[in-house]
Amino acid sequence: MMLSALTAGGCRMWQAGFFTSGYGEMGDGRYAHRAAYEAFVGPLVAKMHIHHLCFNRGCVEPTHLVQLTPKAHGAAHRKARLKERRSVKTELEVQW
Ligand SMILES: [Zn+2]
Ligand SMILES: [Zn+2]
Repeated sequence: MMLSALTAGGCRMWQAGFFTSGYGEMGDGRYAHRAAYEAFVGPLVAKMHIHHLCFNRGCVEPTHLVQLTPKAHGAAHRKARLKERRSVKTELEVQW
């Protein structure tokens, strides 16, 4: 995939523009990780979220992306937070 670089952890880091939220931006206003999911995994379903299994917002590696309902997505992040309380920056930045 162009415009991305592999990390030691297996993440493909987006190398082009970014949204202020930390997500990769395609240059046309689309999220890079959503475009990557659509191109390499399958169609995006309306209102579904694309979750980073690696919790790396700039990652566009298709195998690190899963489509979840907003509810399941929130639960996945809460679970991850409980597991790793340190300083993991999750995508959602949930405010407690
Ligand atoms: Zn990744
Ligand atoms: Zn997520």
